[in-house]
Amino acid sequence: MFLKKLKIFFIIVVILGTLFLVYSWYKNYQFKNNPLNQNIVEKINKKHKELEILTYQKFNIKRKIPVTVSDKMPSKLYGAATFSKSGQIQIFLNKKYFQESLEYMIDDVLPHEYAHALMFVKGNTTNQKGGHTKEWQNICKSLNGLRCDRFVNIDDIIIGKTNFF
Ligand SMILES: [Zn+2]
Repeated sequence: MFLKKLKIFFIIVVILGTLFLVYSWYKNYQFKNNPLNQNIVEKINKKHKELEILTYQKFNIKRKIPVTVSDKMPSKLYGAATFSKSGQIQIFLNKKYFQESLEYMIDDVLPHEYAHALMFVKGNTTNQKGGHTKEWQNICKSLNGLRCDRFVNIDDIIIGKTNFF
């Protein structure tokens, strides 16, 4: 009798475990193959607007900087700021990190990249220390960025061509 109950118990555990796995696969598949959900898009837009207002208040800069969510970025990059040959300035955010690290992407990564983009707007395209100069840090802090440390080991500014579209 006890053994029979134990057997049923294990069968239930295995079934639940399998269901959970299938559910996780399904969720990941859905996330990968669909655009970001509206809720996340609205959060990005809200932060983007805040950054535009801060930029105008603190630097008197009105320039619109497009923010694009991309699924073609390498995994080591959470975000990037790009400056094309024709002078176009853009920000890219890595789509795959919006599933696990939504708040981090919006409150840390976006202001960090925005500060790089503003450096470009000011005509400063130095690649020294991956663009993490003292001036960049000050801009990042003025934008209420949470990840404005200068000693990060990531090349997240790209001057020239990108294939993140
Ligand atoms: Zn950076």
